[in-house]
Amino acid sequence: MTKTFCNKCGKQLNFDDHRKVELTVRPYTTYGGRFNLDYCESCFKEIIGEEEYNSMIQREAEHKRRIIEKRKAKNDE
Ligand SMILES: [Zn+2]
Repeated sequence: MTKTFCNKCGKQLNFDDHRKVELTVRPYTTYGGRFNLDYCESCFKEIIGEEEYNSMIQREAEHKRRIIEKRKAKNDE
């Protein structure tokens, strides 16, 4: 397995502390302006901002809850 490090703080990332970020920079630079970045949870939070982060976590939780509910509904059939 290849090791991944946080692009910001350099911490080694593991599965549950790892955010993959695709970043497109506009206006495009000569090399395309696209970045594939890896961040740890706390740097990711810092980068996108607390407000955005919290609403994302909320949406994530909502999404997970729906998946669990769907699974439950299937099991009840
Ligand atoms: Zn970091």
